[in-house]
Amino acid sequence: MLDMKWVREHAEAVQEAAILKGLDVSVEELLELDVLRRNTLGRIEVWRQERNEGSAEMGRLLKIQGSGHPEAVRCRQEMRQLNDRITEEELKLAAVEETIRQKLLQVPNLVSPDSPRGASDADNVVVRHVGELPVFDFPIRDHVELGELHGIVDITRGVKTGGARSYYLKGAGLLLHRAVQQLALDLLCEKGFVPMEVPLMVRGEALEHTGFFPSGQNQTFRIAEENRWLAGTSEVPLISYYAGETVDVREPIRLAGISACFRREVGSAGRDVRGLYRVHQFAKVEQVVICEGSLKTSELLHTEITAHAEQILQLLELPYRVMAVCTGDMSQKTFKQWDIETWMAGRGAFGETHSSSNLLDFQARRANIRYRDEKGQLRYCHTLNNTAVAAPRILIPLLENHQEADGSIRIPKALQPYVGGMEKLTAP
Ligand code: AMP
Repeated sequence: MLDMKWVREHAEAVQEAAILKGLDVSVEELLELDVLRRNTLGRIEVWRQERNEGSAEMGRLLKIQGSGHPEAVRCRQEMRQLNDRITEEELKLAAVEETIRQKLLQVPNLVSPDSPRGASDADNVVVRHVGELPVFDFPIRDHVELGELHGIVDITRGVKTGGARSYYLKGAGLLLHRAVQQLALDLLCEKGFVPMEVPLMVRGEALEHTGFFPSGQNQTFRIAEENRWLAGTSEVPLISYYAGETVDVREPIRLAGISACFRREVGSAGRDVRGLYRVHQFAKVEQVVICEGSLKTSELLHTEITAHAEQILQLLELPYRVMAVCTGDMSQKTFKQWDIETWMAGRGAFGETHSSSNLLDFQARRANIRYRDEKGQLRYCHTLNNTAVAAPRILIPLLENHQEADGSIRIPKALQPYVGGMEKLTAP
């Protein structure tokens, strides 16, 4: 539940987080609105009490003097005026409460003390590099050229059918797309995650609960004439699964969502327009974890879900780096975030492929997901999420980094069982 008490108790830290994240939130204004709300409610309660007393007095007068008696007439008139005043004040209260609700929805999560302070992704800090960058002694092709050469990626026809940022995957393109997802899902199942198929048309409340609304509303495709939207990630339905519930987190709840993801990519005009990097529809295997509200526990789990993503990249034989995301590059809901960027030979640069976040109790408060601690007290859970694999973006380094001089593409050993034992995509 959105919680003014929490804001009051963390006023300074919330204001600092809003500034660090570049969000237009004034805690002072919020607290002033809360005083106004409480004063208005106080007045209404006094008047309601007066109304109760007046009703009793009216009843008494009617009984002994009848309805036409001047005292009863005066009393009735006073009651009518009181009622009007109460109604007027109740309308004011409802308006203040709605303003507070809207402003509470903008309140950011706190930021971890060890997150780098900075304004944009240029201020993110490299935590570690893993794997050797490939060296080529021939002119390399990028994934679009490789995709065309093998007839496995068709952007031109994708755009013809779906408009900008659309694509078709064909033959081995589709097999690889599904292979990386199945590899990721199998790995998560081995680690005790419960695989889940989820609703992708979700209600506005689910997006509000998970912190995607209202701030990310313009990034989300709406289903015409409905209060339902296409989820941009299975994190939304996975967290929403437990909304309003008291859960057992003696063992953390580990969920693996596999889904299509839909993104409007508003504000990305002109960015990453070539190929499969930034598209409107992609597939993602997502890790979501719900645990007890303990920083120590959620920090350990944050490391765990990051390690899973790293393991998948190592199985795919892709070099990557882990970045500590700075405050200005974090979203409203994030307490601490590590991004993983994978080397993409065609760009000659690292590109983000995974995003691992600890949200503390931010989503659990909004979605009202609680557990009983060892004393039997109800407390909010912590939630975390990380990509396991997102495709087709991961096909970019997979095709580009493993290419050979004639355009053939080597399939990493761990992926071969998922493509019928194929060791190489031989150039035509
Ligand atoms: P996010 O859920 O925004 O943290 O993104 C998780 C991962 O999904 C990113 O690291 C990318 O690998 C992938 N991704 C996000 N947006 C897009 C997009 N528009 N097109 C393709 N892949 C994307």
